[in-house]
Amino acid sequence: MARVTRTIIVRSVKLPRKMFRVFVELEGMYRNMVEQLVMYAVRNWVKSFTRLKALKYHEMRSIYSQLPSHYVYTACQDASTRAKSFLRLKKLGLAGRGYPEVRRISIWLDDHLWKPNGYTSIKIATHKGRIKVEFDPHKQYWKYINRRWKLTSEAKIKLDKKNKQLIVYLTFVKKIEERKRRGYLPVDVNENNVTILADGVASLFETGTKKLVLGYYYHRKKVQEKYDKLYGKRSRIKKKVLRKLKERRKKHDIKWKIANLIVRTACEKQYAIVLEKLGRKPASNMIRRIKDKQLRHRIFQASFKGIQRTIKEKAKEYGVPVIYVNPRNTSKLCPIHASPINYDNSSRIGKCSKGGGLWHRDVVACWNLFLKALRGDGSIAPSPAELNVDVSRMLFGTKATHDPIALPRGLWTRWKSLPQIQHATVLNKMRR
Ligand SMILES: [Zn+2]
Repeated sequence: MARVTRTIIVRSVKLPRKMFRVFVELEGMYRNMVEQLVMYAVRNWVKSFTRLKALKYHEMRSIYSQLPSHYVYTACQDASTRAKSFLRLKKLGLAGRGYPEVRRISIWLDDHLWKPNGYTSIKIATHKGRIKVEFDPHKQYWKYINRRWKLTSEAKIKLDKKNKQLIVYLTFVKKIEERKRRGYLPVDVNENNVTILADGVASLFETGTKKLVLGYYYHRKKVQEKYDKLYGKRSRIKKKVLRKLKERRKKHDIKWKIANLIVRTACEKQYAIVLEKLGRKPASNMIRRIKDKQLRHRIFQASFKGIQRTIKEKAKEYGVPVIYVNPRNTSKLCPIHASPINYDNSSRIGKCSKGGGLWHRDVVACWNLFLKALRGDGSIAPSPAELNVDVSRMLFGTKATHDPIALPRGLWTRWKSLPQIQHATVLNKMRR
């Protein structure tokens, strides 16, 4: 049983000026508290929330006696989270200044500080009593309500001062039982595509990550150099320009779309997803080397992990099991003969050194992930001789098994799962 949580952002309606002012005051006091607590925690190297609370509760309570007492708790939680990550950086020698800056603030609420009030409003405890705030529910919000996700007691609010609105972060939780698996869906994540193997047919989803990641990388570098020269290393204007690059959002979009597609496909077929097991920090051993090629590699590795993590998150939501197998040699050995495949000049098509068959690199990887998952231990080079008839027939069957169906980004991003047509194609091929 997996516990899955999702945070949903809703906006309140525009608040009356007087009411909004209460929240501005609240935010001010909360910010002061967090600032003092962070300073104290960093100065005294206090990392635990409970210790921070034990040490500072009475003092904070007496200074901010007009606030409901639980704001001291949540401020302590907030502050200890900030202090912890700052101290971690400091230990690594990566913290820029002596103390962390408390710039952006969201007010943390616990079960004593807020309550849902029907489906479209919440009540928030303040120094001026409980205030009812209406919000605008959206489609996504109703989706969680209708699918019986439960609201948790943690929430956060941010102030949008320009529009006099509250931005409310609600967290939903659901317990989801993992389904039984009836097969495997291997997924190979590459620089420029994500390839899956469903019932013997490989589909290659073009993601264009290479262009996106590298393009932004070099663009960002150029912007940095230009603004550093003009305004110095810590200029606000540089940060603003960098923030405007929509890299994160674009990557985020592609990640969730591909994850959705894969997980829904696995869910429909009741398959487990098979992924390569990447190291915890797939690139940390390369950080010191600066050769361009390796730098690229490092950047891509980071995005591989991102896609894998998104698939894992989505799979949890659907109760789809995820299996990790050892990535060793997955694209180097022929799935039929376990002999090396020779790729010429960085080509993605290679020739089996024993059987002479032509293989697409990403399809090879998928087959090997599949075979490793079937064998269960994920470490030994697979040999199809020991596998069941179905698999060997698919493997030795038509040439189609060696070639992926390439799907351009413009096409698949509109799909919800793999279209049924593919299944029909496979059956046809097997009959032949
Ligand atoms: Zn071979």
